[in-house]
Amino acid sequence: AEARKFFVGGNWKCNGSVSQTEELVSMLNQFSLTQETEVVVCPSQVHLQGVKAGLRTDVAVGAQDCWVQGNGAFTGETSADMLTDMGVSWAIIGHSERREKGESDVEVAKKAKYALDKGLSVMACCGEPLENREAGTTNDFVFPQIKAYADAFTKEDWKKVVIAYEPIWAIGTGLTATPEQAQETHAAIRQYLGEVAGADVAAETRILYGGSASGKTAPGLSAKEDIDGFLVGGASLKPEFADIINCQT
Ligand code: PEP
Repeated sequence: AEARKFFVGGNWKCNGSVSQTEELVSMLNQFSLTQETEVVVCPSQVHLQGVKAGLRTDVAVGAQDCWVQGNGAFTGETSADMLTDMGVSWAIIGHSERREKGESDVEVAKKAKYALDKGLSVMACCGEPLENREAGTTNDFVFPQIKAYADAFTKEDWKKVVIAYEPIWAIGTGLTATPEQAQETHAAIRQYLGEVAGADVAAETRILYGGSASGKTAPGLSAKEDIDGFLVGGASLKPEFADIINCQT
């Protein structure tokens, strides 16, 4: 994992008031953070501007989703054009909590491609439900998600993409995948990425683990060869987020 800079994203989900968000920003601003880790936090769309204005500049700001095309008559949507204009540099795309609402692999990939074309970097999510994990068909579920991204992205695009592998059974459940379970799937994803996007893309693309990552579980997971960082939900709202960012130091 040496050539790949360690990466930690915080997904704040649908949480926070104006004042709580200010408190989170001030917590982040006080953290002592290693510069060896690239850090991005993703507040709700309504809090993006406030967070961007108050946050230290060595932590980037991302959105949790964005619209599949540009501005226009799309009530309730937020376009990648708006996000880049605000100085937002990342977007989480294809989170399982969005896919649950009916976003298909192809729609997710199309959205990610539009975001990339507008200059955003993308945390491209994938991950299997419990049924597939138990049936031993994790790869059968995850590979088509990766294939859809690979069909949509050019080699240049991949330089602005990190993959977030987030087993659905581990998200928000406290059931973190073991380092061995996560490594096995990360290695499989990287191998498959080599087949569908090229060996260079496979070697250079960071693959994050997401699913109840914590200050306690991060060191063991991050020691694995193919785990290049984390996408963190619950723990990104707490002081232990700093421990996850600094888990390799
Ligand atoms: C997430 O939703 O991206 C996530 C990983 O959540 P949690 O860490 O709370 O499981």
